[in-house]
Order: sequence, then structure tokens, then C-alpha cells
Amino acid sequence: MQPPAEDIVFQFLPAIMEWIGSSRATAAEDLQTCGQPQHAVALLTANRTRVERDLASLVSVPSLTGDEDAIQDAVAGILADAGLVVERRSVALAEISSDPDFPGIEVDRDQLPIVAGRLRGSHPGPTVMLCGHVDVVPAGNPASWTSPPFQPEIRDGILYGRGACDMKGGLVAAIEAVRMVDPAELSGEVVVLAVPSEEDGGSGAFAAIRAGYVADACIIPEPTGLEVVIAHGGAITFTLDVPGKAAHASVRREGVSALGNLRYLIDALEADEAARNASETRPEMTAIGLPYPTIIGQVEGGSWASTVMDRIVAHGRYGVMLGQDCDEASSDLRAAIDAAAGEHEFLATHPPKVSMWGGRFGSSSITSDDPLVTSLRSAAREVGAHIPAAVGAPYGADMRLFINQGSTPTVMYGPGDVKMAHAADEHVAIDEVVECAEVLARWLTNQPTG
Ligand SMILES: [Zn+2]
Repeated sequence: MQPPAEDIVFQFLPAIMEWIGSSRATAAEDLQTCGQPQHAVALLTANRTRVERDLASLVSVPSLTGDEDAIQDAVAGILADAGLVVERRSVALAEISSDPDFPGIEVDRDQLPIVAGRLRGSHPGPTVMLCGHVDVVPAGNPASWTSPPFQPEIRDGILYGRGACDMKGGLVAAIEAVRMVDPAELSGEVVVLAVPSEEDGGSGAFAAIRAGYVADACIIPEPTGLEVVIAHGGAITFTLDVPGKAAHASVRREGVSALGNLRYLIDALEADEAARNASETRPEMTAIGLPYPTIIGQVEGGSWASTVMDRIVAHGRYGVMLGQDCDEASSDLRAAIDAAAGEHEFLATHPPKVSMWGGRFGSSSITSDDPLVTSLRSAAREVGAHIPAAVGAPYGADMRLFINQGSTPTVMYGPGDVKMAHAADEHVAIDEVVECAEVLARWLTNQPTG
């Protein structure tokens, strides 16, 4: 994409002013204008010390999925400190769990605590949202960490701790962006939304959407390495219950091994995976290599070492393709299993059972020329940041809920490498959080008036 001519001037606006406000920048003398008062261009410089402090305070709260009240207290406190009007609500799971589009959960919970902060601009304009999830996955074996996972440490400009990358770094970038914005320079309204329960399916974002948290555009600062994710596949969780026929090992040919039947079905699933991936044509997705993987991640079976297995239960993950909903992906999976079973001597008359459970991560996408994408890229160019490439992602996130359930154009753009998400020694570079905050701040102040 070629930069518009008027953007070239912004190449000469590096952050030459050490401009660190205590809460939100309001210094009019730091403003430069491009001739349109409603588009005044402030040199927006993030407060690195404040970013480090906010991020450390959030990472120090062990907000495992299902246990997000304390982190939401902390987020609400930071949003209030940032001068936003803070809203808190707790949605009862029972209120939304029977909704046909409910994305599912994988932990026990009754409530979904939601926190939002609003900043209203001085001019009319769109409502834009910056949304992050506050839950994190378990830290795993503490011995695999260099420093304790919930005691954040900064080493060489990198903050280590569970959730630093996925995605408290992004949430702090969003909050810092709003801290940097002067309402006098803002058109419309910014909503910073913090949701629970992304990691087990997205019920937090779903609850927020049903409670009315939708916008004209939304950026989710998940760890994308500061590229902009415009399309992603989804995933459903399934269980395959595979029958066999028991027999003593010494006469094993009298039986039918459920393990052998599973091996046959895995071959069929691999062929199905290859065909589905080969049918994808959208370049953001084909660039991933295998955008729609199928795996069996857990297997239970057998009762005795010298008995032919009469049953095996396998749990796995199946990809949801672009343009598909979770039910259509389920149909693909059932069709692949049914077709394979129908051609099998034993399974044709003893069909395996397929069931779906757990999180339902749909797919979603917007086009690369959507105004959200082009405005974000322009903002990055204007502040001298890395100009994000429009890419696809092989994993699901709350993005699809805002697009599919909230009719809100949404992308993911945030600091950190997704390979660090869920890993030991999870970390994010403070420089990337700062860069993200500065791009988001510019994007916010570039919203059109009217
Ligand atoms: Zn995440």
C-alpha cells in the first residue's frame, strides 16, 4: 500500500519530545496541526515507566480462567486512574448459556465479571473499542520458569510473567493509548473493554456483546507481533468414541482392536485435513501453511494389558474454516468419520460416535481494504512505527464474536509473539507495548468527526 502524500510529513515526526504526562496528556503546546482543527496531530508519546508499572501490576494477579474478579478490580483501578468512566457488571452465566450462539465454557463458573472504561471526545464521531481478555492459562511446571510466573520481572527491557504476552501487554497498550489521548482531540467515544474467559471459549466477550458492548470498530491487542490479523480460522473440540471387540490377547484375532480402529479413523482425519486445507484460497490463510489443523490431543482406552481394547475414547480439535460456522465444521467432521466408518468392515456396523463439547471458536475475517485496516496502517505510518501487514492467524479469539455476534468490524493488533502465549517464561518486550500504545493513540485521535 502506497502512503498518501499527506502522510509523508509524519515520517518526520519521530518521538523527539520526551513528553510524559502523569495521567493523560493535555499539553496544548505539544500539538501540531495539519490545518484542520478537528484533526490536530499531537506527538503522542507513551509513558514507558507507567506502562511497566501497569503491566507489572496486572501480571502479578494470577487471573486464571474462571477466577477473574481480582484482576478486574485491578483493571478497574487502572482505568479510573486513567480518568475513564468505569463500568462494572457481572453477567450470570445462566443468562446466556442457553443462547444458541453461546460459545461454550471449559471451567466451572457462575458469573462473568466485565469491566469497561469510557472516554468521550469533544466532537461527535464513532464509538471505537479496544478489547482485551484478562484471563490467563495455568503456568504449568514452576520449575520451567526462570522467575516465578506471577512475580513479574523485567530483564533487558522484557517483562516476564504468565499473561505478559497473552494478553496483559496488549491490554496495557490499550489503556496507555487512552491515557495519552486528550479528549479535546477526540471525536466520538473510546471504550476500553476487559473481558474474562477468552481462553476457554469467549463467554466473557459474548456476555459483553449481549450486554451491549459493540462499536463501530474494535481492535483486540492480542499478541500479533504488531501485524494486523484480518482473518482467522476457528476450532471446535470433539470426542470420538470408537468401539472394538474384546478378546484375550492369545486369540486376538477373535477380537477387534478399538486402537486399530482409531488408527484407521486418524488416517481418515488426516486425509480430510489435507483436503480442507487444499481447498482454501484466501492468501492470508494459505500463507499460514496449515490453517485448519486437526489433532487428537487426548486418548483414553483399554482395561487390561492382555485384553484387546473394546473401546477407546479420543478427544481432539477440529478447524473451522473461513466462511464456516461451528455447526458446519461439525458437519464436515461427522461426514469424514461417517464416510470412513462406512467403508470399514467392523465400523460400518459398529459406528463410532462423534460428539462436540467445550469451547466453540468460530472463524471470522474482514477485508484487507476495510477502513479499520487502512486507518490502523495509516496511524502506524504517521507515528513512525512498523506498518502492520494484513495477515491471517490459525487460532481463534474473541475477534470472531465481535464480528459474528456484535456486527463490529474487528481486527487483532498487539504486542508480543503468539509463540510466547501459554509458554514457560512468557514475556513481552516493553518497546513493543509502547509502540502499540502509540499507534493505537494515533488511531484513536484520527477517528473522523461527524
Ligand atoms: Zn489471548
